[in-house]
Amino acid sequence: MRSLSEKVGAIAPSATIEISNKAKKMERGGIDVISLSIGEPDFATPQHITDACVDALKRGETHYAPSNGIPELLSAVSEKITRENKFPCKPEQVIVTPGAKQAIYEGMEAAINPGDEVILLTPAWVSYEPCVQMAGGRVVKHAISDKTFQLDDSLVKRINAKTKMIVVNSPSNPTGAVFNKDSLKLIADLCTDYDLYAMSDEIYEKLVYGKEHISLASIGDMAERTITVNGFSKAYAMTGWRLGYAVGPPAIIREMSKVQQHSVSQATTFAMWGAVAALKGDQKCVEDMRKEFDRRRQYMISELNLMGYKTAPADGAFYAFVKVDGDDMAIATQWLEKAHVAATPGAAFDAPGWIRLSYAASMDRLKEAMGRIRRLGSGK
Ligand code: PMP
Ligand code: GLU
Repeated sequence: MRSLSEKVGAIAPSATIEISNKAKKMERGGIDVISLSIGEPDFATPQHITDACVDALKRGETHYAPSNGIPELLSAVSEKITRENKFPCKPEQVIVTPGAKQAIYEGMEAAINPGDEVILLTPAWVSYEPCVQMAGGRVVKHAISDKTFQLDDSLVKRINAKTKMIVVNSPSNPTGAVFNKDSLKLIADLCTDYDLYAMSDEIYEKLVYGKEHISLASIGDMAERTITVNGFSKAYAMTGWRLGYAVGPPAIIREMSKVQQHSVSQATTFAMWGAVAALKGDQKCVEDMRKEFDRRRQYMISELNLMGYKTAPADGAFYAFVKVDGDDMAIATQWLEKAHVAATPGAAFDAPGWIRLSYAASMDRLKEAMGRIRRLGSGK
């Protein structure tokens, strides 16, 4: 047989998905695994969103829609961005995608030429690097301080003539850190001075605890050079709906549209009607979920700290990022195989020596998980 694609061969499988699959397999084998490895809200999608989708199905919204998304959703996103994220956005600057992940992939395909360099701020979520690689780009990693979890001038050292883009993810998966205005301003200044694009993944914007989320595109001229990525999975507990979006300068969105037209065509038509209800409806459901995540966050961080583990700031998203003493891969394997708690080793995020635990699970399950890790006593 002839060899398969070298480009795809060089890409690692998604660690978050692989570990979650392994945990699910153990569960099917009758083991009571507490799955804290994947970032997925445990809440049901709010009823009014599901109802709007079912209504759309019933009235026959089961055909192809415009590739970038139904006009009602493009308007709802553009209004939301202008109002909440505080930068101007017209409907033609929006593309709705099957999940935010697809928006990241399309954004990379649209902006990157072979050999272009893309700066990732590590620890970084697992899918950025493969998306850059699939677009033919080269990843340059810049480690964020594990004391402040903010940026400093040393970032400029990563920039050279080949640098094309900086990827920003605040609130961060996996650290839970939220960039302050100074960190974002630094990125904005570098992008302007060196004529770079930015991709700002703001999918956890609604999940902040006592901190302010600031959109990168709201700073200086960044709206002209930023692809802002967002979606419905985290804020509205809609992971399985596969709905995300990107907002950016019309020229980039037009290029992303071509990738979308020739690959997935569009997001699912009736699902998009659910998303309209999500954005236009009462936002109390989002706040209720945020408050519950906050309660779990406080419990989990204090338990881990009491056990002697150091943790990253946990100001946003729904992850506790835990410093371990020893090999994170080996410790996460022990937690899974001996304590039956699934967690993601930091190495998956370019952060060896750390482990990510999601607190998007019920309080009872979190209490049980903490008890199991305490009894095992490894990794401190
Ligand atoms: N960005 C980040 C930082 C994430 O954690 C996720 C979660 N999978 C995504 C993007 C993609 O979300 P989705 O494709 O479910 O919209
Ligand atoms: N974003 C979540 C995580 O990091 C979901 C899984 C994924 O898409 O990677 O666990």
